[in-house]
Amino acid sequence: MVSNEPDPVAQPPIAEQVADVNPRLTEHYNATYADAVEVICRAHIADDSRGAKLTAIHVDGLSLRTTARDGAHRDGWVPFSRAARSLTDLESLTLEVITTARTTLGVTELTTPEAQARQVDAIRTYVTSVIRMEQLTPIFRQITFGGGDLASFEPGGHDQFIYVMTPPAGRTELTVDASFSREDFGEFTDENRPVGAYYTVRDWRPEDGEMDMLFVLHGLGDDVHAEPGLSAQWAANARPGDPVALWGPRTAYDPPADTDWLLLVADETGLPAICVILENLPEHTPAHVFIEIGDDADRLPLPTRHDIHVTWSVRGDAPAGTSTLLTDAVQALDFPAGNVYAWGGAEARSMRTVTTHLRRVRGVDRARVRMVGYWRHRSTPVDLNTGD
Ligand SMILES: Cc1cc2nc3c(=O)[nH]c(=O)nc-3n(C[C@H](O)[C@H](O)[C@H](O)COP(=O)(O)OP(=O)(O)OC[C@H]3O[C@@H](n4cnc5c(N)ncnc54)[C@H](O)[C@@H]3O)c2cc1C
Repeated sequence: MVSNEPDPVAQPPIAEQVADVNPRLTEHYNATYADAVEVICRAHIADDSRGAKLTAIHVDGLSLRTTARDGAHRDGWVPFSRAARSLTDLESLTLEVITTARTTLGVTELTTPEAQARQVDAIRTYVTSVIRMEQLTPIFRQITFGGGDLASFEPGGHDQFIYVMTPPAGRTELTVDASFSREDFGEFTDENRPVGAYYTVRDWRPEDGEMDMLFVLHGLGDDVHAEPGLSAQWAANARPGDPVALWGPRTAYDPPADTDWLLLVADETGLPAICVILENLPEHTPAHVFIEIGDDADRLPLPTRHDIHVTWSVRGDAPAGTSTLLTDAVQALDFPAGNVYAWGGAEARSMRTVTTHLRRVRGVDRARVRMVGYWRHRSTPVDLNTGD
């Protein structure tokens, strides 16, 4: 989900970046985009391809393998139209190969990654500004946006999240405008790259065109246990009139119609989404909610209902992203009967361990688990970032 997000830290050369993500991307394509891999193999290796597999993604093309009826392997190489300049560019070039292969074969139905890319390409960018700020708790700063393009905001689901772009550090003017789209992520120079991160829409009031978001001020003020980040610093210093560009919304929370109960898991970063999800909880759908916070003072008010069961775990002096509180709490839950839908937003490693527990120990179906890595502690490997 967050693979498009630019890394504000200086990047290694693109060939190294591609080599780094190659195993994860290859596995992801074979598991999730098998229809696209098959189309490429049919167009480039043999039209009667079976067992099509992507074997590697390189900076300048794709390696593939098919298996013939007699078990013999046939390998193929499909070059990109040019070498990739960034990871986002790599994604675009791979899509180009898929679309060319599909049209060569005369297939009109879009493959899964093409359909997804079309949705992402349709995401709008709203240029707006800060109207006011309110320090809700020591760690949560609420920022309200309004004016500019925001009046035409088209809302999404209950966990709707937006890529919030602010001027590059030390500058006051935005380097993006309303024409910003997915492909622009890979095109920034170091000087004009906006400060940016994903944030959740806590409240959208269409009648007055105002939107609230809750920014965690990690590593700032009294929070000596975490490292600060550029977006958190921007939020701490934001003033009315400061410009922002909002690319979104997108959503991940999507419970199937036959859901009997919800399991919700979050640290501070996922708490704004939990507030909205619980405020919109359908009647007769119980929820078991597990929330990790650093300090008791950072509890946010949640709706009370006899079938909403909230467990707060306080991290205290342990740095954010290093505790096992969320996983321990989920492991200890006596699972109610019926179909669960499990959603979470927290540090990537804890989201991965909760997912593993739900899938392997509790036997929950993949489609019913959506634990999203909202941020990554520096000790968490990159390939855990998706939380999938
Ligand atoms: C879908 C989605 C929705 C999100 N919604 C929200 C939201 O509503 N509110 C919110 O505050 N965040 C939210 N986040 C998380 C937010 O995007 C990240 O925390 C992001 O890293 C903040 O950017 P930054 O520039 O401040 O820090 P970065 O430059 O990304 O990171 C700098 C350092 O800070 C550390 N760090 C980052 N976040 C935290 C944290 N929360 N606690 C401790 N250390 C941290 C990193 O490990 C790194 O060492 C969401 C993320 C996603 C993917």
